[in-house]
Amino acid sequence: MLRDFDENSEIDLAMNNAPRGAVGVELGRTRIIVRGMVQGVGFRPFIYRLANDHELKGWVFNSTEGVVIEVEGPTKRLEEFISDITLKAPPLAVIERVETSLLPPVGYQSFIIQASQEQEDKFVLVSPDICICPDCLREISDPFNRRYRYPFTNCTNCGPRFTIIKDIPYDRPKTTMAAFQMCPSCEEEYYNPSDRRFHAQPNACSTCGPRVWLVNEGTTSDSLTEGEEAITMARYLLSRGTIVAVKGLGGFHLACDATNSVAISLLRKHKCRVNKPFAIMSLDCQAVERYCHVSDAERQLLESPQRPIVLLRRKSGSPISALVTPHNSYLGVMLPYTPLHYLLLEKRGGEPETLALVMTSGNMSEEPIDIGNEEASEHLRTLADVFLLHDRDIYVRCDDTVTRVFEGKEAIIRRSRGYAPFPVRLNFEMRQVLACGAELKNTFCITRGTYAFLSQHIGDMENIETLSSFESGIEHLKRLFKVSPEVIAYDLHPEYLSTKYAHELRGNGQLSSGVQFVPVQHHHAHIASCLAENGVQEPVIGVAFDGTGYGEDGQIWGGEFLVCDFQHFERRAHLKYVVLPGGEAAIRKPYRMAISYLYHLPTALTGGLTLLNRIDPLELAIVRRQIERRINSPLTSSCGRLFDAVSSLLAICDVITYEGQAAIELEMLADESFKDGYHWPLPKGRFPIVIDPEPILCDIIHDLNAGVPIAIISAKFHTAVAEMVSEVCCLIRERDGVSSVALSGGVFQNVYLLKRTLSHLRRRGFTLYIHHQVPCNDGGIALGQAVIANAKVTSPALRRSNYVLSGAG
Ligand SMILES: [Zn+2]
Ligand SMILES: [Zn+2]
Repeated sequence: MLRDFDENSEIDLAMNNAPRGAVGVELGRTRIIVRGMVQGVGFRPFIYRLANDHELKGWVFNSTEGVVIEVEGPTKRLEEFISDITLKAPPLAVIERVETSLLPPVGYQSFIIQASQEQEDKFVLVSPDICICPDCLREISDPFNRRYRYPFTNCTNCGPRFTIIKDIPYDRPKTTMAAFQMCPSCEEEYYNPSDRRFHAQPNACSTCGPRVWLVNEGTTSDSLTEGEEAITMARYLLSRGTIVAVKGLGGFHLACDATNSVAISLLRKHKCRVNKPFAIMSLDCQAVERYCHVSDAERQLLESPQRPIVLLRRKSGSPISALVTPHNSYLGVMLPYTPLHYLLLEKRGGEPETLALVMTSGNMSEEPIDIGNEEASEHLRTLADVFLLHDRDIYVRCDDTVTRVFEGKEAIIRRSRGYAPFPVRLNFEMRQVLACGAELKNTFCITRGTYAFLSQHIGDMENIETLSSFESGIEHLKRLFKVSPEVIAYDLHPEYLSTKYAHELRGNGQLSSGVQFVPVQHHHAHIASCLAENGVQEPVIGVAFDGTGYGEDGQIWGGEFLVCDFQHFERRAHLKYVVLPGGEAAIRKPYRMAISYLYHLPTALTGGLTLLNRIDPLELAIVRRQIERRINSPLTSSCGRLFDAVSSLLAICDVITYEGQAAIELEMLADESFKDGYHWPLPKGRFPIVIDPEPILCDIIHDLNAGVPIAIISAKFHTAVAEMVSEVCCLIRERDGVSSVALSGGVFQNVYLLKRTLSHLRRRGFTLYIHHQVPCNDGGIALGQAVIANAKVTSPALRRSNYVLSGAG
């Protein structure tokens, strides 16, 4: 897989100017440095074979700059060799640049692979974990192969990487495979440059490698059965409705039959997950097509070596239990990515077929996914009946990535396994920055050169387990990429654990003096993240719609129109402030938001609403008092909360059990074919524009009272928001002369809203930027924090200002 780095690649075919050698044959020697993700991906044996194919002499070695090659021979062949490097590169390699320089021939006699050379301050890219490759899959299906049905089969083109690497350089002793001594057959492959397992660090077979076993809940060693039998038994138990904890690549999954509603409802009950969608796994695309619509782009993503969870529209009447994703027309689907998954999903002999397995993260509610045998058997004992364990340790916790196709292109929702720690490439040089990210869906980001290393998904920073996963994750990535941050960026919110972490760093005196700490406003970071991944540095109108973000005025923002670049932002418009009655309680209970919005409307209008009958009168009184007296009730301009209020008003969702639920269910019900929206009157001429949702809510109530179907009301509401966005952007364009718009924030995960918003903005001639590589939700915040902090400390004007704080102080 050669990722697209065209704009940066410069294959300098210097050979065209080669000096003429004796007897008409031009001889030359070329030194080549290949930069990019070229280590631990079978690059040196590839070069070795390529040099032999072209009958060239010389050497190759890994250095901290990349792969360094010298080849000598007829210049015509040297040219072909150089172009073949990019044309025929191994599937996992990501070549960013091939640099060549011409040298006089020295008379090499052979081509050899030399030992690696390391330089102190240089670093290399580390490969993410990659699904089993077709060659290995063929081997485990071949009864005559020595790896027949061996669940840890891998090669230089596939298998675990990031999750087993403890340190660099990437060599077996520095991975969790160090515990396994290779048998003579594996060793032979490992040291043979023409073998496809040459220097495959996790190389293993059933004689020498990791093994799998099955235990009852509550134990890790008293195995019921091992190896092939354990997998067969697990398959049987799954088909009978048992919940099995399965140790995977980046953590444990809880698995059960996705067509078995009894098993799923039991899992939901035990996991305290009433409604949050579960991901499922099927053997191949053919199976997926039996229950979901799959476009070509979606198939490509499903089958990609990263093997993410892809959100797909479900077909009606499929055998997949409705309990997998309640009140949702999408299913999160992935294909197997380890040999063990393949063995679990395949149909053997007379066994019943498994259409799909639920494969949800093995954790209690919002804690980090479990990775160790002991901790999993302790934490998950109430959730799973049996455990399918193995003894290849997971060093780095890495959840599954969640993604989707939007307008033909990938749009990532959770960036993790298969993607991290592959960097987001920026079009400018960065200082070494650590950005601590947000509270929910946390990821952090460290930068070096033009690379932004966005961490794997860390999770909701609400408990000590997630915090410790965050801290160890930061230390690990700093070590891997040899970064010692000069700048620390963090969210303005004083109560975020990630913010407190940054403050502790400043306080504990362990950082070198001169480290600068830069607080970053949440929505500014959202927009900057979108700009950074799109390579945009000019000012834009940033529309940041989300649930919660700390504002510069201490209120909760979330319906924001900013004019901004990396350094500055100005708030040009926002949703009108409304009371968030009871703070956090109002986020969990959307009906509280509905009451808050209805508070100032005449009773003549709201009197007949069923909402008021659904709420306990005592609580209704409490909420009203909270609104009146502002007890523990901040103000918010959050767009997410407006969606919550409408969802409750329409009796779709009064209380949520996972983040975003009320808005998601409101979106799912919206009539796709309905085009009209409510008219949203906007004040003109004064900035910041305060956008009052009251007229829209009145229209909704009128429609409700008139018996208009919920699907139509939802559609009209979505369209009203989309039109409002484009109108406000027009007003800002008139004022500031800025005609590009970037959309970010979790609200834009709403595809119904995003499509309509884009189409309105396009019609009005705006240049548009949305997220693709990085989530639009808080999982993408860290990237924005990093580029903003970098811009602020780099600007001479601001270097003198109060952004500069001493690290040791
Ligand atoms: Zn392979
Ligand atoms: Zn072996």
